[in-house]
Amino acid sequence: MKSYVIHGPRDLRIDEKEERSLADNEVRLGLAYGGICGSDMHYYQDGKVGHSVVKDPMVLGHELAAVVLEVGEGVDGVAVGDRVAINPALPCGTCAMCRKGEENVCFNMQYLGSAAKRPHSQGAFEERPVVKAHQCVVLPADADLKLAALAEPYAISLHAANLGQVAGKRVLVTGAGTIGTLAAVAALDQGASDVYVSDVHPAALARVKKLADVHTLDAMDVANRVASGELEFFDVVLEASGAPQAFNTALKVLTPKGGVIQIGFLAPAELDMNVILTKELTIRGAYRFLDEFEQAVASVLAKPELIEAVSATYDFGVTDEAFESSLDKQKHLKVMIRHQVYAS
Ligand SMILES: [Zn+2]
Ligand SMILES: [Zn+2]
Repeated sequence: MKSYVIHGPRDLRIDEKEERSLADNEVRLGLAYGGICGSDMHYYQDGKVGHSVVKDPMVLGHELAAVVLEVGEGVDGVAVGDRVAINPALPCGTCAMCRKGEENVCFNMQYLGSAAKRPHSQGAFEERPVVKAHQCVVLPADADLKLAALAEPYAISLHAANLGQVAGKRVLVTGAGTIGTLAAVAALDQGASDVYVSDVHPAALARVKKLADVHTLDAMDVANRVASGELEFFDVVLEASGAPQAFNTALKVLTPKGGVIQIGFLAPAELDMNVILTKELTIRGAYRFLDEFEQAVASVLAKPELIEAVSATYDFGVTDEAFESSLDKQKHLKVMIRHQVYAS
C-alpha cells in the first residue's frame, strides 16, 4: 500500500509499504480523509517540530476519518463497515502521569506521526492504516467523514479552552489558523462571554468571522488599543500563533490575575517576564488533549458550517502540491488529503 513518508526537509515521498496482519484488538482502516496539521507542515518544511526531529523515515498524519475494513481478534464495539474518527493518542496507561489521569502528558506517549521519540511513532497517511480498536470513535452511518477529520484539531482547541476555564470570560485568541479558529469556536461553545481573534492577515480574520461569532482585531494594534483604553483588558488569551510577538502582546493585554494558554509551538524569543510577576499572570501550556476527543467528534459533527474550514482537498497520492499549499497561510486554513476509494 502507499504511504506518505517524510525522509527529511521537503523530502516527502509516496513509499510502498508491506501490509501486516492484525494483532489482537487492532483494526485495519481505509483512510477516507486526512487533515494536514501544523506539525505535519513543520516536518515537511523543516524536518522537525519543536524538539522532535525526523531522524528516520516516518509516515506523516494523525488527523483522520476512515472506514473499518477488517477487525482483529478480541475487537469489541467496532465492526467492518463502520465509519470512524481516530484518536491519535496512545498513552501507556501505566506511568506516573497516566496513573494520575493526566494521560496527555504520558511519559511514554505514542502519538500517530510523531518524531518526539525514537523509534518514531508512524503516522496514518497511508491507504490502510492499522490502529487499536479503542482509538476508534464510531460515527453515525451518515456522518460526514470530512467534517469528522476535524475532530483532532478541535479536541486540541477544546482542551485549551477547558484549561483556560473560559466560561463567562473575555477571551482573546491570537492567530487565526486552524487551531486558533477552532479555539474561538470552542471558547464560545464553552460559554466565553466575548471572543476576539487577532491575526496579521486580514484574509484569515475574514475567514474566522464566517465560521464563528467573534470580533476580529489586527494583531499589530491590539496592545495599543488596550493601552489607550479603547479596548478592555482580557481575562484569558489562547495563544495559537506560536509568534513570540503574540505572546508578548498577550502579556500586555491581560488583566492582572489573567492567564495565557499557550497552544502553538513558540519560537525562542525574549519574553517580557516581569509583566508576569507584576500582574500575577498564569502561563500554562495546552498540549494535545485529555478526554475531550469524543466530545470533539460530537461537536464537529454538530457544526456542519465548520466544513468551510477545509479550504482545499487533494487526492491521495498528491504530495508537494498539497503540503506547499497548506503552508500558504493567507490562502489556506485546513488542507486535506482524500482517498477516492474510501471517501465515497
Ligand atoms: Zn493535528
Ligand atoms: Zn503513561
